Amino acid sequence: MRDVFEIRGQDAAGRLGTLSVPRAGLAVETPALLPVVNPHLQTVAPRRLADEFGAEILITNSYILHGSDDLREEVIERGLHDLLEFPGAIMTDSGSFQLAEYGEIDVTSEEILAFQREIGSDIGTPVDIPTAPDVDRERAEEELRTTQERLERAECFDAGEMLVSAPIQGSTQLDLRTEAARHAYGTDLDVFPVGAVVPLMNAYRFDDVVEVVAAAKRGLGADAPVHLFGAGHPMLFALAVACGCDLFDSAAYALYARDGRYLTVRGTRHLDELDEFPCACPVCTEHTPRSLRSELNRERERLLAEHNLHVSFAEFRRIKAAIRSGKLLELVETRARAHPAMLDGYRALLEHAEWLEASDPASKDAFFYVSGESVLRPEVGRHHDRLARLSVPDRLLVVSEGVPANTEGADEVWSLRPPFGPVPPALSETYPCNAELPSRLDVYAYEAAADGVAALAMAHPETEIRVVHDGWPASSLSRLPECVERREEESTDSSATAVEESQ
Ligand SMILES: [Zn+2]
Repeated sequence: MRDVFEIRGQDAAGRLGTLSVPRAGLAVETPALLPVVNPHLQTVAPRRLADEFGAEILITNSYILHGSDDLREEVIERGLHDLLEFPGAIMTDSGSFQLAEYGEIDVTSEEILAFQREIGSDIGTPVDIPTAPDVDRERAEEELRTTQERLERAECFDAGEMLVSAPIQGSTQLDLRTEAARHAYGTDLDVFPVGAVVPLMNAYRFDDVVEVVAAAKRGLGADAPVHLFGAGHPMLFALAVACGCDLFDSAAYALYARDGRYLTVRGTRHLDELDEFPCACPVCTEHTPRSLRSELNRERERLLAEHNLHVSFAEFRRIKAAIRSGKLLELVETRARAHPAMLDGYRALLEHAEWLEASDPASKDAFFYVSGESVLRPEVGRHHDRLARLSVPDRLLVVSEGVPANTEGADEVWSLRPPFGPVPPALSETYPCNAELPSRLDVYAYEAAADGVAALAMAHPETEIRVVHDGWPASSLSRLPECVERREEESTDSSATAVEESQ
């Protein structure tokens, strides 16, 4: 067990946790956002990040400090926390990004790790090789070998109390990502960044981001804190947390502000195209888009960066509250409506329902059915699996709620409830069968319910199942097995009673 990371709550594959950072003597609550601070250009002062935005941890680049004529000696002398005047934990990157951008850097992995330890970094990073998406197999394998050698050497490095991260590469070759994760997890390194996904995010390939993260998670134990490197856009946070990412860094708040771009949880807007601010942060309540446009460049950039940070931290608070109340997938579902590519990301996540099922809590407050994707949530599959384990009488009547049916000859009467299917009376008021559904249901909910009936029939072939439905669409009825007798709303005669009365 890794003792630096403790999980305190789960929803889907998302976790609430605590990352212990021994060198800083702090415990950081996760999921956490690490604002990226450029030591030369502090758009928002680190002290303010802690005091006004609640940042417990930030990330800065040790390679920039190492190569800086004016800051290198100063940071060695004063230490990183004093130089940046930041009271929280500080993670440092190593120059891998510069390596990917410019093709070479002038330090070795050991040199930069030693420098990070010397300046007082709390979480250091070796120099890995960030392999871009879609490269050929040979290159992905070769670069991964180099990354793995460097992780093995980093493991031998005397880091003192500094935690050391173990980046996971492998491009878009999913089996390599899993292998890389397994190897990294096998070292005694502490934090696991999933690297080189920025090009995927920039291209709006959010489904590929989910696949890459899922592949990495397959190779990691549950006690591994996972960092999604470079994921700084608030529209992505809920989805990435639901995939099991715990740490995020944002350079986006400052980089986007420099270009006059305004972040929202639904995407990016340009300041020039806004008439109103759809936000209640201090910047947006004290300014209008027009007044902000008239500010001097530096001031406008700072204010936009502050808005971008407020939006980002607010989304993290929302995500944490959603995990606590079992509503994370509903938040992701809402975010998925903002862009077709986000919907692809959400659907890709739901394709891993089995994996989500393993960590998703069995009981929550309420299941809200809000779109056709809801049928793919782990709760629905879990109910279908459970049907096989329930004891079932010889003759079972399954009836849509509120529909009169002739109960004569039935040993038991169960509800027929989309998207779950057959629900015995004992479960009808428990999670998730007590779901809130729209009265105008889509066809997917009926089809999933029919699949539930089919699962029950297959698990209990000896049982005679009769279904009375309230006008189900043909596409769902066609999914019922032949052996299930089905009827639409039976008219009751004198011997029949409404289902409600019979229960
Ligand atoms: Zn705002």
